[in-house]
Amino acid sequence: MICQFYLTLRCNVECEFCDVWSNPSYQKEEKYQEAPTEKILIVLENVRERGVEELHITGGEPLLYEKLGLFLEKAKKIGLKTSLSTNCLLYPDRAEEIKGLLDTLYFSLDYPFAEEHNRSRGRPLFNKVIKSIETATRLKENAVIFYTLTRDSVLYLPEMVEFCDKFNINCYLNPVYDFSGTQGFEKATLDSIRYFAKRKNVFIHPAVLEFIKNRGNNIARPRCRAAETVITVLPSGRFASPCFFNQAGREGKEDICVSCMRWPYMLPSFAVGFDRYRFLDWLYRRQKK
Ligand code: SF4
Repeated sequence: MICQFYLTLRCNVECEFCDVWSNPSYQKEEKYQEAPTEKILIVLENVRERGVEELHITGGEPLLYEKLGLFLEKAKKIGLKTSLSTNCLLYPDRAEEIKGLLDTLYFSLDYPFAEEHNRSRGRPLFNKVIKSIETATRLKENAVIFYTLTRDSVLYLPEMVEFCDKFNINCYLNPVYDFSGTQGFEKATLDSIRYFAKRKNVFIHPAVLEFIKNRGNNIARPRCRAAETVITVLPSGRFASPCFFNQAGREGKEDICVSCMRWPYMLPSFAVGFDRYRFLDWLYRRQKK
């Protein structure tokens, strides 16, 4: 079981594909407001007691959370494996403070070129990503480029692989969450992704490609197992189930679940059940060991 911990919904960039920074309900609704850190640390203990072994910290931009160091120290103390996604704007300044407290740092990068990445993120972030890579390398942190693939950005896959080679950093391929964003990708695109994924420093879960090919979650026969495999915590410390995007509905069966490919929920889902996704998940985990 893993935990998706939405530490804060504050954000310091304006990405074109995300509404966290602009959605008024995230600013107004009580459940999205940040609880005092003391309460959040108790929630973290509770999460661990429920059998969670892996903690992924997300948001918003988690590096905006002032007491992140304290939160991570607690997470390590109670034996959690930790990872965090960041847009890199603040990482170079806060890297020392959180050094050694994260098993994996995911640095978001949408394009291997400054102009395109800065446009996609609404802020001049490209150089911050490079500075973050250099900082993480100096501090011997395990950082990974988190490359979101759309029908547009996937065209730059060879250049992105080259970029990662140049900086000697691993690249995790993350197709966008919804089928309309990928429109399934052409067969040739999927073949190209598979080709580059053979590289030592490029990673994609094989079940992801299979799931895209099959048009994501089918609400008539849902593959989503978010409720069984993921605990979602909101900034207020409240739990959301089955997932952040569908907080009161049936798992995998609501309108929002049509063709859903929200990987933070789907990847853990593939680890249960008896089908080809489960088999591919088993294979992937075996290879990773
Ligand atoms: S929206 Fe949530 S509940 Fe629905 S399929 Fe996606 S992850 Fe599952």
